Amino acid sequence: MSTHTITTQWDEIPENADEAALVHGGAFRTFRCFCGTPLPTRVAAELHATETGQCTACLGSADEELVPGFVRRCSACAATGRRNVQLVWEVAHSEAEQVITLDLVRGIIEGFPGPFKLSEVADATRLALGLPVGRLPVGPRVRDLLRELEAAGELVMLSAPDEMLRGPSVVLYRDPRWQRVSP
Ligand SMILES: [Zn+2]
Ligand SMILES: [Zn+2]
Repeated sequence: MSTHTITTQWDEIPENADEAALVHGGAFRTFRCFCGTPLPTRVAAELHATETGQCTACLGSADEELVPGFVRRCSACAATGRRNVQLVWEVAHSEAEQVITLDLVRGIIEGFPGPFKLSEVADATRLALGLPVGRLPVGPRVRDLLRELEAAGELVMLSAPDEMLRGPSVVLYRDPRWQRVSP
């Protein structure tokens, strides 16, 4: 693998950069592989990662740098950098989508009279389904569903973002808290 170490360098980021392209689209970066294969675009870099058995999200580095200086462990491959782990994890994501439904999560949060944290709902979901920790990506799925309930007006988020990566438009929450909206 050492002969196909793919590195990413930041280009100059314009002031009015498209946030989605910057954070999720792999824009404003230059890619290189140690083997010398030209990688002119993010797509070419992902293809080369696939060919060499590396995760297409982090390109084998096990980290993802969302904006310059903000690095987190790659969630697509469980921070292994490996394509086969990424594929297993993709299957687990779709399995989580099937077993963790909106109705299930709605039923679980009815058990919380006051505010609750994402981690508490994720733990209760794991318990309800009898899932061992690490078996399925429960947290990300539960977070998506809670955001859905929030968008539908059933919940309000109480937390402020933990990180503002580029002003208020690109923010991160670690373990946000919500509360149900009383009818
Ligand atoms: Zn290479
Ligand atoms: Zn990865």
